[in-house]
Amino acid sequence: MIIFKYAEQLARYIQQQKTAGKQIGFVPTMGALHNGHLALINQSKQATAVTVCSIFVNPTQFNNPSDYQLYPKTIEQDIAKLEAAGCDALFLPAIAEMYPRGTAGLEHYDLGYLETLLEGAFRPGHFQGVCQVMFRLLTMVQPHQLFMGQKDYQQCMVVSRLLTLMQSPIQLVTCPTLREPDGLAMSSRNMRLSAEDRQQATAIYQCLTHIKEQLNQGVSWGVIKEQAEKMLTNAGFRIDYVELANANTLEPASDAQAAASRMPRVALIAAFLHEVRLIDNMLV
Ligand code: AMP
Repeated sequence: MIIFKYAEQLARYIQQQKTAGKQIGFVPTMGALHNGHLALINQSKQATAVTVCSIFVNPTQFNNPSDYQLYPKTIEQDIAKLEAAGCDALFLPAIAEMYPRGTAGLEHYDLGYLETLLEGAFRPGHFQGVCQVMFRLLTMVQPHQLFMGQKDYQQCMVVSRLLTLMQSPIQLVTCPTLREPDGLAMSSRNMRLSAEDRQQATAIYQCLTHIKEQLNQGVSWGVIKEQAEKMLTNAGFRIDYVELANANTLEPASDAQAAASRMPRVALIAAFLHEVRLIDNMLV
């Protein structure tokens, strides 16, 4: 695996690969890699000839300074995992490479209502930061296909919107969420959980499963939501949201009309265990 610190060198490498007729797959990450990330690498390897991964903890997408400071960093292990997974190139830029003129006063993207609900409402500025870094990464890498995880459901929709705004031909491939044996969605932030909180954390998955079962049995969303919130608070969570949304638009889809129309729906949860914020979702 070739490691690039500078966009110019990475772009030259990618141009060579493209000239040789190769398709480029790209997996952007913030490091502290787990099997969920490696599943994206595998999907990219199956679909394209050259897989490029990036590791960059993007400061502009953190609305909470201590979350940024405490974000896990395991670069040596990450490199070993990517080598073992057969990743072809790793882009490992410094902040100055991504934001040569600093991070103040950066461009603003029109994300419409997507930015006003769920993660957008609870993490002001987060999706602007995601777009700022993704625009730069996509311009530098110019892949044919981009692989991202359903774990970050709303982020996939935001990036899809960014690709439209960029009039980009890049194909976004959304990959299923990898889970621990007890159902907890794999996440770099899980490393920050205490042993006790790690055990409690599985309540999010249990909640999502419960929501799905109860909806299938025709129980009303108001009742289910109350049960779900109780399950989470009993496990020690501080809840940001437990919502049911139209899977295509993320607009609220909890009423009887939505249920009757059989539109695809997704249940989404964001909640804190002490200082660690976890998110997960499930199509229902
Ligand atoms: P992150 O490093 O958290 O920014 O994640 C990098 C990419 O990996 C994003 O597209 C995530 O959605 C994806 N990802 C994170 N966790 C998982 C998981 N458990 N299963 C599948 N993909 C994931």
